[in-house]
Amino acid sequence: MTSPSPAHRSGYVAIVGRPNVGKSTLLNHILGQKVSIISRRPQTTRNRVTGLYNRDDVQVVFLDTPGIHDARGLLNRRMVDEAVGTLDEVDLVLFMIDPQRESDPARDAGLIARIQKAGTPVLLVPNKIDKIPKEELLPLIGAWAAAGDFQAIVPISAAKGSGVGDLLRETVERLPEGPAWFPKDQITDATERFVVSELIREQAFHLLDKELPYALAVEIEEFQEGEDIVRILARLWVERDSQKGIVIGKGGAMVKRIGTSARLQIERLVQTRVFLKLTVGVDPGWTRRQHAVERLGQFRSGDK
Ligand code: GDP
Ligand code: MG
Repeated sequence: MTSPSPAHRSGYVAIVGRPNVGKSTLLNHILGQKVSIISRRPQTTRNRVTGLYNRDDVQVVFLDTPGIHDARGLLNRRMVDEAVGTLDEVDLVLFMIDPQRESDPARDAGLIARIQKAGTPVLLVPNKIDKIPKEELLPLIGAWAAAGDFQAIVPISAAKGSGVGDLLRETVERLPEGPAWFPKDQITDATERFVVSELIREQAFHLLDKELPYALAVEIEEFQEGEDIVRILARLWVERDSQKGIVIGKGGAMVKRIGTSARLQIERLVQTRVFLKLTVGVDPGWTRRQHAVERLGQFRSGDK
C-alpha cells in the first residue's frame, strides 16, 4: 500500500430524498465508467454502500439510507429515525428534491428538521431541472433555500448530466483529507459478479453432489442493482445435453433448488433482496474457455 498523499480527500456521503427524485440516476451518472457498485456493509450496519467514486485525489463513498422518506405508521417512523440517526455518521448529506413535485417545502418541514438535527452539512440538490422553465425554477429554489440551512444549493439534471460536475466539486470540497477507505482498484463490479458466479457454482456442485465437477461454468448475463433489489440473470453452462438434463432435473426441480439456495447466499452477501434467474445452456467450448479465464484471473489478481 502506498501512503496517502496529503491532498487526498475521502468521505462518506449519504444521498437522501423521496423515491423517484432521481437518486439512482445521479449515482449512475457520477459513477459512470468509474463505477464500483458494491453492496457490502461498511463499518455501520445500517448504511449501505451504493457506490464508490474514485479519482487519484479522492474517494467518495456514497451511501443509501433506506427508509428515510416514507414515514407512515409507527414502525416506519422508527425506521426513519434510524436512518436519520445514521446521518450524523457521514461527512455530507445530499438532499435531493424534485422541485416541481415538491413545490411546497413546508410539507417536508419535519423531514428537513430531522436531517438538519444530525448536524451534518447538507447540500440541497433540486433535480430534473430540464423539466422546469427557469422562471418557475427560481422561485421554487428560493422557497426551499428559506426552508432550511443548506451549505449550498446545486440544481442539476441527473438524466442530462447538467450541474453534476458542479455537484461533485461542491461535494469533494467539503470532504476531509483522508485515505481511501476501500481499495481503489480491487472492489469492482466485476469482482462482485465473480463472487456471485462462484456462489452459484458452489450451490450447483453441492446439490448435484459433484456429479459434474469440471463440466459446469457459470456466466452472469445481467447484474442490475435497483432501489431495493438486485436482479441477476445467470446461465449455467454444461458440455453435453445429458448434463443439461441433470442440471435442470425433473420438471426443473434441480435448477430451482440451485437457484433458491444460491439466492439465499447472494442475499447474505449483498444485504438486500435478490431476484435470481438461472438458465442452462450447452456449449463445450464456452465451458473450457471459462475455466481457463478463471485460472488466468487468479494469476492476475495475484500479480496486482
Ligand atoms: P430514485 O428512486 O430516487 O433512485 O429515482 P430514479 O433515479 O430511479 O429516477 C426516477 C425517475 O426519474 C426515472 O424515470 C428517471 O429517468 C427520472 N429522472 C431522474 N433524473 C431525471 C432528470 O434529471 N430529468 C428528468 N426529466 N427525469 C429524471
Ligand atoms: Mg433509486
